[in-house]
Amino acid sequence: MEHLLLVDTNIFTPFTFPLVGEKWDGGSFDEYPQRRQFDTTTQKFYAEGVENSPDATYAFYQTWLYLGLVTDAFYCEDPNEVFLRHDDEVGGLVLTTEKLGEVVDNWKATLNAMDLPDKVVELTRSIEALRKVDNQFREINVPNGADLIWLEGVSPVGENIRFAIALLCDALGYSISCMCGPDFDEEIEKYNSKWSRGEELPLLSYPYFRWVIGTVLHEAMDRALLCPVEKAQLANSSPAFLCYLLSLPETNRYPGQHGECNSTTCVGNNIDEETYVTKHVDDDCDCEHDGPNIEDVKKCLRDGHIPSLTLSIVDGEYRGMKVKPQKVENATIANIWRFHQAKTGLGKSLDYVALSHVWSDGLGNPKANTLPRCQLKRLAYYANYTMNDGRARGVKGNFEKAFSKKFSFAKRSGTVWEQGGNFECALWTDTLCVPLEKEYRKLAIKTMNQVYRQARFVMILDASIARHDYSTDEELMGRVVLSTWMRRVWTLQEAILGMEKLSICTRDQVIDHTDALERLRVMVNGGTRSLVNGALESVAILGDDGFQGLNGAVAIMEYRSKKLVSKIFIDEKQTEKEKQLDQEQFVLFMERLWSLIGRRATTKEEDRVLVACNIMYKDVSMVLKGGGHTGRMTALLDQLDEVPAGSIFRTGERVPIDGYRWASHGFDYSAWGRFDLANPGRVTPQGLLVRFAGYILSEKPSRPDFPLRVESAGEQEFYIVTCSYQHKTGELLSPEDWSEVIERNSNNLAIIRSERAQFTHSMPLKDGRMVPCQQIKAILVSIKEEEGGTIHCRHESFVWLSKAPGPEYESLLQTTHPTVVTEDPRPTSQQWCVG
Ligand SMILES: [Zn+2]
Ligand SMILES: [Zn+2]
Repeated sequence: MEHLLLVDTNIFTPFTFPLVGEKWDGGSFDEYPQRRQFDTTTQKFYAEGVENSPDATYAFYQTWLYLGLVTDAFYCEDPNEVFLRHDDEVGGLVLTTEKLGEVVDNWKATLNAMDLPDKVVELTRSIEALRKVDNQFREINVPNGADLIWLEGVSPVGENIRFAIALLCDALGYSISCMCGPDFDEEIEKYNSKWSRGEELPLLSYPYFRWVIGTVLHEAMDRALLCPVEKAQLANSSPAFLCYLLSLPETNRYPGQHGECNSTTCVGNNIDEETYVTKHVDDDCDCEHDGPNIEDVKKCLRDGHIPSLTLSIVDGEYRGMKVKPQKVENATIANIWRFHQAKTGLGKSLDYVALSHVWSDGLGNPKANTLPRCQLKRLAYYANYTMNDGRARGVKGNFEKAFSKKFSFAKRSGTVWEQGGNFECALWTDTLCVPLEKEYRKLAIKTMNQVYRQARFVMILDASIARHDYSTDEELMGRVVLSTWMRRVWTLQEAILGMEKLSICTRDQVIDHTDALERLRVMVNGGTRSLVNGALESVAILGDDGFQGLNGAVAIMEYRSKKLVSKIFIDEKQTEKEKQLDQEQFVLFMERLWSLIGRRATTKEEDRVLVACNIMYKDVSMVLKGGGHTGRMTALLDQLDEVPAGSIFRTGERVPIDGYRWASHGFDYSAWGRFDLANPGRVTPQGLLVRFAGYILSEKPSRPDFPLRVESAGEQEFYIVTCSYQHKTGELLSPEDWSEVIERNSNNLAIIRSERAQFTHSMPLKDGRMVPCQQIKAILVSIKEEEGGTIHCRHESFVWLSKAPGPEYESLLQTTHPTVVTEDPRPTSQQWCVG
């Protein structure tokens, strides 16, 4: 794995992978199993006299999926020569990727010399080869459970082989994706636009395969003291990227920090206001605190202004601060439109730097609006450097810079501490600018959105980043990914609102985030070190990381500006297709926003809703009036208009309030479901208005699992109904909860079912055999009333409907309850109000 980019090889020791399989035989990739007389569906050799053992199978795959892959799909003529070397320590042949870069460059050059149609064919072939590897690891062609070798119980030899192949495929995948970029799409479109050609050539996109990171990296994550939340997130990331991250030294973690965390909740950086200690720059410093005249701050807030603080530095020392009111520009849609339209990005912004930090680093103060003078000096130096950086560049916004070829994105010379000793600069930080009294806190929270949106820069000061200088932009980005700043809910909001103007404090410099990204992009596109930088750039920062990192913020930002723009000007002209795309994008945005907020940590649970509200540009004062998490959530839901109707079938806990049970209570990834333009869910005070098929039950069964026969116009269908908890979909409702459901009101129960079967399952028969069945998501509701064609009902439980292959199975299936018969099926056009 010499191709991997690593920072510290003492922390992350490069692996050596011995060759345990055979050398490559020079034949074709696809026919290799045949030549070796290996059956890929049983994963065993069928040749006579060949001993079958799991490790022999793994060895076979090493030769096929490693050496075979590079020879066939990437034109490496002699993989034994290029990818094997003798290793004295191992005492035999090992895999080497020393020349991987060369192989990839040759492959690229060969492809680029081809005519476009040939190039498309060859790229498709390479993608298909990787897909083959992916299919093997996911064992989709292995029908018999006893033959599985990759999904569980992988031997150490197997683990090693899979890891080596994953690292190889990861790098090759990024090389392919580099070739399939937007420029390539354009080329294809241009080719296809010739009148005689029609849609001759397909547009290619690289389908980011997920390579299993394996035990080795799981153990390395433990050694690096990562939180279980980070581990869960990174388990789906690129192995090459993860190796890079894990080689970063000194990430400011200590043993036990995340000992109380689980894969969904991090409490490792939460603070206790009672015992919180505001830190000095150096532990042994005991200088005095200073803060603003708090009456001035309050007056500012009462007047509806942002209270920024002008800090004075005289002869290199902190000398005091004054409150300076900054005018709030209302975040009306028209203003945001102008904000983006002006393209300067910063055109409307004000002359202060907003600080984005995490309290666990010690820059908070729960008892007074003050900070130690040593910290104020440090903040002033950082802020002034940031601000001057901006002035030196004129008023151009970062987005504009990104598109202007003339801009160099060069790093600035001179350090933060080499600045002259006399200056004033304006800063906003929650510690000093949000008064402790509750009523002023609320006032301040209401303008929080504008504080970050209107700031000239949003300055990220995180202890784990700021204690280091950085040698490359990858390292800086790697540190951002691993920082505490990246894990908190409030900093998510700050990052998204300040996306175009983030600056990152390192030990001696402040780095413009957009510039760093641009430098990375140039390096990747320029082809240097593209094997790994590709991973870093697209996984960690801009590309497809499922909204785990900053790029989640980028995508949200892009979505939001597009959305707002289309709202004002394009609405009427939108075609149906565009509308649909827009809706789909909206749901994707909501899904991702919800999961991102759910994954970030916060000391106060109810703050999540505030952050969601701010990012969605909804009215935060309404949310502030709601009590606790639940009250705030309902206040946010009240402000939504149309949501996917399928939300009612999603798993996860429901909002425990009448009228809102259709919605997910927490920030789960699966909160929203797919949006169907023809069948949206409409939010009303009584509940969600949706249209789905369903069945009115003729009786109330005494158990939460029962057989159901549907009688309709000469047809019969047979189901087994299992009513389970929404957040534990396998667990039947308890007898107590069930009796509550059937006693809720005197009216009937009904089942609302989703459109399609989810997947095929099996049902046990009385004689011990199994029969396949379709599983359909549904919910059980208790009917309040039926009025004007709409059934008003209360969401009671999640339901799996298991559909028997035919009604004749009724007598054969194992059931404990007599069959419930319904002669009242409702069509898909039935309207329900689920509350
Ligand atoms: Zn944690
Ligand atoms: Zn001090």
